[in-house]
Amino acid sequence: MPTATATTVPDREAMRRALLDVLPARCVLHAPEELQPYECDGLSAYRRTPMLVVLPETIEQVQEVLNLCSRRQVPVVARGAGTSLSGGALPHEHGIVLSLAKFNRILSVDPVSRTARVQPGVRNLAVSEAAAPHGLYYAPDPSSQIACSIGGNVAENAGGVHCLKYGLTVHNILSLEVVTIEGERLTIGGESLDSPGYDLLALLTGSEGLLAVIVEVTVRLLPRPERAQVVLAAFDDIEQAGEAVAAVIAGGIVPGGLEMMDNPAIRAAEDFVHADYPTDATAILLCELDGTNAEVSEQIMQVRQIMLDAGATEVRTANDDEQRRRFWAGRKAAFPAVGRISPDYYCMDGTIPRKHLGPVLARIAELSREYGLAVANVFHAGDGNLHPLILYDANRPGELERAEAFGGAILELCVSVGGTITGEHGVGMEKIDQMCVQFRAPELAQFHAVKAAFDPQGLLNPGKAVPTLHRCAELGAMHVHHGELPHPELERF
Ligand SMILES: Cc1cc2nc3c(=O)[nH]c(=O)nc-3n(C[C@H](O)[C@H](O)[C@H](O)COP(=O)(O)OP(=O)(O)OC[C@H]3O[C@@H](n4cnc5c(N)ncnc54)[C@H](O)[C@@H]3O)c2cc1C
Repeated sequence: MPTATATTVPDREAMRRALLDVLPARCVLHAPEELQPYECDGLSAYRRTPMLVVLPETIEQVQEVLNLCSRRQVPVVARGAGTSLSGGALPHEHGIVLSLAKFNRILSVDPVSRTARVQPGVRNLAVSEAAAPHGLYYAPDPSSQIACSIGGNVAENAGGVHCLKYGLTVHNILSLEVVTIEGERLTIGGESLDSPGYDLLALLTGSEGLLAVIVEVTVRLLPRPERAQVVLAAFDDIEQAGEAVAAVIAGGIVPGGLEMMDNPAIRAAEDFVHADYPTDATAILLCELDGTNAEVSEQIMQVRQIMLDAGATEVRTANDDEQRRRFWAGRKAAFPAVGRISPDYYCMDGTIPRKHLGPVLARIAELSREYGLAVANVFHAGDGNLHPLILYDANRPGELERAEAFGGAILELCVSVGGTITGEHGVGMEKIDQMCVQFRAPELAQFHAVKAAFDPQGLLNPGKAVPTLHRCAELGAMHVHHGELPHPELERF
């Protein structure tokens, strides 16, 4: 596991007493059994026990806690539901975890302006449930939506099946209330389409808890489409499935969702939720069309034809909402389903230009043989956002390290075809080394400058998301531009 950046070791007992001056005792956890549940997030291979955990109940308390941490130079890791797959919410051993779990109220739903004001600890799915009586919903739908929080979604700029058509979190929020490390409350963004000043809303979205703590979110709501229908296409060649994805988009159709699963993922999902998938297919595509009745009818005909032209061996259209839900249930349950067939899995997240889907999947299969570890692919094909799940057994010596190396090779493969090392899961702890491959020193230096403008002491989620130039130099993975070694003054190892 990568190490946290070093800080001075704070006096734990003195910090606990200081926190009890600004928080009720029920909001400060310190006993080992209370701290243990916070020692990891969804990337459970990495674990650290935090010094203390706080669960404030009001924005004023968040301000007090952050101001205290700033004065005492104590690192702070904000935490929503802890479902991050990149170790974003992994604690700092000399820091506190600031859980937003008690900020779980939907403050208002306004059907006229089609917005909702929500606290950051509200579950993603709960927003759509609250909006449903008005015929509205919140579009970004990560597969973890029954558990993950809106604050965590903003911090990770989360995506989901419907983001191909309706955008990521950043496209579906209007404003944020945030608290800086000094305890200042800021209002970012607003209800109008444009706002003066720098676009701090976009900057804070995806900032992984490194710039400020989000304490309120105003989200955009969309009207439920008149009709939504899913086409399932089966292929016996994964490259053909990749070509079908590109052909759908090239045909001028923007589906509500366009997802791909390979054979190991299909079989795992089928065994788990009985989604009625063809288990002998090499790959399936799920393509959802939504809109008015007339639009959907026409697009279904087009998509069916595109799939057949691309070589699909079978094309099915969900006949009713029940079948549509079943098709999606398999996709949404694919991660836990894979969890049933392997003691451990390591979920990667990288994005590539759609046209490279076929060759990249073929190369991942080769890498799987080279590293001696099986892989299941289930992903947002329309966005080119891959999620290879590397299957391993942490109890077998060396397998975790091999899985990590395999994962690193996949991410570098994504970069080599013009893609990125993250689609929606963030960088966190997991992909920090690949940031040295993705970016050059001047770009990383600007990221550090932005961080320093918000958090000069580097106390918010230290050691995550943006590697130091030293770290990149040590890895030897830094970009060399026109043969010029960046920062030649740094010692290389
Ligand atoms: C089974 C499964 C499926 C998943 N599917 C998807 C998917 O389809 N799409 C997708 O995008 N992700 C997916 N994820 C990853 C994860 O659910 C998302 O990244 C989610 O946005 C994390 O939300 P959270 O509330 O759990 O945040 P946490 O895990 O608690 O935190 C994530 C990061 O956000 C920061 N943070 C949390 N709350 C705040 C706050 N209030 N203020 C400032 N920073 C904060 C943390 O410091 C950390 O860096 C999946 C995860 C699992 C386990």
